Order: sequence, then C-alpha cells, then structure tokens
Amino acid sequence: MKKFTAIREECCEANRALPNTGLVDLTFGNVSVLDAAAGVFAIKPSGVAYAKLKPADMVLVDLDGKIVAGQLRPSSDAPTHRILFRAFSGVRSIVHTHSRHAVAFAQAAREIPNLGTTHADYFDGPVPLTRALTPAEIARDYEGETGNVIVERFRNLNPLDVPAALVRHHGVFVWGISAAKALETAQALEAIAQMALWTLQLRPAAPPIPTALHKKHFRRKHGPAAYYGQKANRL
Ligand SMILES: [Zn+2]
Repeated sequence: MKKFTAIREECCEANRALPNTGLVDLTFGNVSVLDAAAGVFAIKPSGVAYAKLKPADMVLVDLDGKIVAGQLRPSSDAPTHRILFRAFSGVRSIVHTHSRHAVAFAQAAREIPNLGTTHADYFDGPVPLTRALTPAEIARDYEGETGNVIVERFRNLNPLDVPAALVRHHGVFVWGISAAKALETAQALEAIAQMALWTLQLRPAAPPIPTALHKKHFRRKHGPAAYYGQKANRL
C-alpha cells in the first residue's frame, strides 16, 4: 500500500493536530483524506488516542465502503465521510468534530446566521442545519444516513462555497481541499459559532451582514476575483 503513503501521512498529521485545536473533547473527532484518482480515503482508526496515531494506523477505505488496507477498524463515522466524498466533488478532506459552540447551534436546531465578516470570509451564507433523521433511517444505516441528510441539505448549495454542515443534535462536518484547510475551516467555524452566540445573546434579533459587505469578504478569498492570501490555500 505504498502508494497511499501521502494520504496516510496527511490524515495522521491532521488527526494528531485535532486535540490542540480545542475542537475535540475525549475522542469526539476525526479527519479523513481522499486520493480522488484512486477513489480511496484514509481515516482515523476507531478508539485510538490521537497522540498515539501513526501513519500506518490510518485505515484505507474505498468509495464503496470496502476496507482496502489497515489492521484497525476505521472510525465509526467512515460511512458519513464516504458519502460526502462521493457527492461533493473537489473535496479532498473532511473533519468531524463536536466543537462546543457549533454543537450548541446544532442542538438548538438553528443554522448559524451570517452576522459578520469573519463568517463571510469562510461561508457564502448561513452554515446550514440538516433535518432530523427518521427512526427508520437511524435503525437502517445511522452513519450512512447522516451523510445522506447532509447531501440532501446541499441540493441547492455549492459545498465548495459553504464548506460545512451542522448535523442536528450531533456535531459538525467540515470539508476542504486539504486536511490543513479543512482543519482551519473547522476552527473558523467554532469561532464564528461563538461570536454568533454572543451576538444573539446581546441582540436576539441581530440582522445578517449586509449583502454588499458579505459578498466583498467572500469574493476576496474565493473564486476568480480572489486576491486575499495565497491561491493554493483557497477552497
Ligand atoms: Zn460525532
């Protein structure tokens, strides 16, 4: 499995970095990285402490859900990652966390409204919330159906312009062109959620950011007219 060394290393490094981001309590988080040409992704093994992870521990799974290589069981969230990779072309890495302020919105069943420029730098609109899973979906294929409700929520959204979803009652899935970029967006999302929570406490009816200011901030970082930062880091 030598040819998957690069995604194993990128995946391992990002998973090992998770505890230092403050996004994760205990082991509630995982990162995956896709080799799009091969249709194979690397993901954290289930129940292994982040600090102990080695590239060789990463489990390789194909886009049909078959384990290609790895001695350990993959994260139980692997089916969610698989469904998102299949549906969202251009996405190379997915981060899942239960970061606290974002989860507060997910548990309150509220999307995160776009209230300011920090949000607009990362998301072209509110951070969307999935619908509740039905009891039949939970019983049939809980993790796979979690992926399906995210894909369903994005039917009229571009996942490259809105690179995260709040899963109702659960947590967040965030994605990007690399593990580093997906991790950065996951950290930005948590900061945005905290800012939004405080804003709504101070002013429950706070209006969204004006459209012109939102578009200015989003477009200077994304798309053909982007001029902020370095091109390789843009989603
Ligand atoms: Zn979770």
